[in-house]
Amino acid sequence: MTPSEILEQFGPREAMEYDVVVVGGGPAGLSTAIRLKQLSAQKGQDISVVVLEKGSQPGAHILSGAVMDPKALTELFPDWKELGAP
Ligand SMILES: Cc1cc2nc3c(=O)[nH]c(=O)nc-3n(C[C@H](O)[C@H](O)[C@H](O)COP(=O)(O)OP(=O)(O)OC[C@H]3O[C@@H](n4cnc5c(N)ncnc54)[C@H](O)[C@@H]3O)c2cc1C
Repeated sequence: MTPSEILEQFGPREAMEYDVVVVGGGPAGLSTAIRLKQLSAQKGQDISVVVLEKGSQPGAHILSGAVMDPKALTELFPDWKELGAP
C-alpha cells in the first residue's frame, strides 16, 4: 500500500508533539531525558520530552545486572540511596 492509500483507508494517524524525542530507552537515552528535564526545571522552562523504546519497557534491553559503576547515576541523582534505589 502507498502512503496515500493508507491515508485514504484508515484516515490520518494520531500525532503528538514533543520538544525532544529520544529514541532508545537504554542508559544513554534515559540519562539524556532525565538530564534535559532537570536542566529545564532549573531554568524554569517546561519542555516536553518523550523516550521511545522498542523493548517491552524502558531499560528492557540494558544491563545484565552483574556489575554497575554508579558514577553516572550519582551525577544524575546525588541522593539515589536516600530515594530508596535498590
Ligand atoms: C551481555 C551484556 C552484559 C552486560 N553487562 C553489563 C554490566 O553488568 N554492567 C554494565 O555496566 N554494563 C554491562 N553491559 C554494557 C551495557 O549494557 C551497555 O554499556 C549499555 O547498555 C549501553 O547503553 P546505551 O543506552 O548506549 O545502549 P542500549 O542499552 O543498547 O540502549 C539502546 C536502546 O535503544 C532501543 N532501540 C534501538 N533502536 C530503537 C528504535 N529504532 N526504536 C526504539 N528503540 C530502539 C533498544 O531496545 C535499547 O533499549 C553489558 C552488555 C552486554 C551485551
